[in-house]
Amino acid sequence: MKKKTIAALLTFVMLTIPAVSVFSYGADPGYANPDEELLTETGEGTGLDAFLPEEADTDYSTGTPWLCSMIDGTVTADTPADPGDDFYLYVNKDKLLSIELTDERPEIGTYADVDDKVTADLESMFTGEPPQSHDARLVYDLYQLASDWETRDALGTAPLKKLTDEIEAISSIDELSDYFTEPVNSEPRIKLWRSSSTIDPTHSDRYILTVNYCLLLRNNSDEYSDPTPSGEAAADSVGELVKYLLVRTGYSEEEALQKIENCLKLEGMLASEIPGRKEREDPDFSASQNQYVTRDELDKIAGAIPVLEELETAQGFPAQEQYLFSCPNYFEKLNELYTEENLPLIRDYLIVHNAFSEAPQLDYESVYRYRHLYDAIYGDTKETDDEYTLSIASAQLNWAVARLYTERYLNQEDKERISGLVDEITEAYHDVLNQADWISDETREKALEKLDAIDRRILFPDSWEEYGYDGLEFKSAEEGGNFYDAYMQIQKYKLEQDVEAFAGPVNNKKWSALPQEVNCFYQPVENAIYIMGAFAQGGMYNSEMSDEELYAKLGMVIGHEISHAFDIRGSQYDRDGNQIDWWTAEDKKEFRRRNDKMIAYYETIHPWEGQDLDGLRLAGEACADLTGMQCILGIVAEKPGFDYDAFFRAYADMWCTKLKPEFMTLYLEDVHPLKYLRINVVVQQFEEFYETYGIREGDNMYLAPEDRIRIW
Ligand SMILES: [Zn+2]
Repeated sequence: MKKKTIAALLTFVMLTIPAVSVFSYGADPGYANPDEELLTETGEGTGLDAFLPEEADTDYSTGTPWLCSMIDGTVTADTPADPGDDFYLYVNKDKLLSIELTDERPEIGTYADVDDKVTADLESMFTGEPPQSHDARLVYDLYQLASDWETRDALGTAPLKKLTDEIEAISSIDELSDYFTEPVNSEPRIKLWRSSSTIDPTHSDRYILTVNYCLLLRNNSDEYSDPTPSGEAAADSVGELVKYLLVRTGYSEEEALQKIENCLKLEGMLASEIPGRKEREDPDFSASQNQYVTRDELDKIAGAIPVLEELETAQGFPAQEQYLFSCPNYFEKLNELYTEENLPLIRDYLIVHNAFSEAPQLDYESVYRYRHLYDAIYGDTKETDDEYTLSIASAQLNWAVARLYTERYLNQEDKERISGLVDEITEAYHDVLNQADWISDETREKALEKLDAIDRRILFPDSWEEYGYDGLEFKSAEEGGNFYDAYMQIQKYKLEQDVEAFAGPVNNKKWSALPQEVNCFYQPVENAIYIMGAFAQGGMYNSEMSDEELYAKLGMVIGHEISHAFDIRGSQYDRDGNQIDWWTAEDKKEFRRRNDKMIAYYETIHPWEGQDLDGLRLAGEACADLTGMQCILGIVAEKPGFDYDAFFRAYADMWCTKLKPEFMTLYLEDVHPLKYLRINVVVQQFEEFYETYGIREGDNMYLAPEDRIRIW
């Protein structure tokens, strides 16, 4: 399992508002669109929330009502496997016993195989002669620079030293404000707040400037008031890395530790005004953030903090009439702390965050430690250096990679065939909405309008016009360049592009997800589904598949993505991608009640004794799985001679996976139900499953009709 795979555990996650330019930490190869609601998934911040340290004596074979059979070692030849008892295990037992984890592949299964294939395909694009076209050449050059450890090691931590020296030289609050507002052309800087352009969540045809609270070393603000042992351990891991980097730049160990302590002290004072993870996971949280202020109002709330000046002089955005701003209390607190007396704490905050943010751009040892920061917590992904440098280079110039990948590995026939499948499933989805007897005609009409307006983005864009890097240049290795400088050039270029795009209307036909991602998405602000080319490969989709397999795999994924438009979070956006409530109060109440029933059911499940699930976190994905199945079963009911056994087996195969227990921490933080639950909980809601396998009351898979879950 590569790092990319781990990020993509979060498969089929609903993308939220894509900030056009959010200054996120480091070069995260996983996600281009930092997601406000799910910070831990996107590489923004440290990515280290409280985690559950693995108990040495955990018995992973104690799950109820099913064995968590995706964990290596839980299944043996003697483990009974019966469809009425545990359908996932029944279908996958032989495969789970026959596939073997290796050091290089700590997770294997249908999805991991596709992911490995795509990684190998991407790597092969960068061997041999350099490509000719401008954009492809750029990404090739960047990859060479990223892999040129000799030059990177010679530069060492000098770029970080330069940044820390600049910060150390700040001797007054006025100088601090000057530092934040230095004119365009300087590098994007870490501040005590964040500001960027984003698609306006309630007017999705325009961009708006948004101002938000700062990043926290501990990611989850709850950890400052209510620290958990696991949160402490996570903070210690980040602290170790930062201490190493600061010592490398010339501080003593004591000085480095003091800086980290000061940083955490300042964050501790700000954290009370920053929403914590629980608050952010509330389905109503996102809508509560859609607050607008005028320029004068923002100026007044910002007080001594040079918010507008930074947007206009440092980033180059024009003055606006309206801004998106949801954290006045945070700025009130920040103003209290923005004093000469606190300057040492503020400087140390900036130094510590710069160290963390710069690590991936520095030399081998810094990068190595940054990459392996997560190992003790999430398991070692065994990603090779080459895979890593390729993912870093690709993430920076991802559309150049997209085009190369598409030209080499995707084709128009598959695009047309899958588009036909999407059309069929979208058509059938009308029945799902029409047959929901609990909503009023008024809400149903809005839901149907939204369904008909969903934009379908299949495998790769129709044209490449909008996805180039015209005008971007940096020195290649032959020209004496280095990775750090190239990386900074790219950041500046992207900021300039954002400023340029900001002036115009939103091009809501432009893709915000990449063909080479082994994933699929629903993007609520675009009201679009994405079925990515790299996902529709191997065991997930191939042109030889039977109908049963096609509907069970890619078909289910398509149904899943459409269902995100109508899940607990996606349903808050209208047909145009505006976060505007289109529900009647009564229908919404019933919708939430149905979700609550589903949430409560997931919370009765324990992957092993003592391990709970957070049903609310899973609600969106669980609804998408269930409703996707409901839609697909509607389609196949019309197919004469349809082989339900083959269908359900293929569905269970899609999420067949086996992994080392240490990866369960990450899986438990994911918004998707565990893979065996994506099978067992879903199938047990449908009569077709009961009929196919003769499931009866008393069987472990049996749910009484009144206990079955149906959202739509
Ligand atoms: Zn999903």
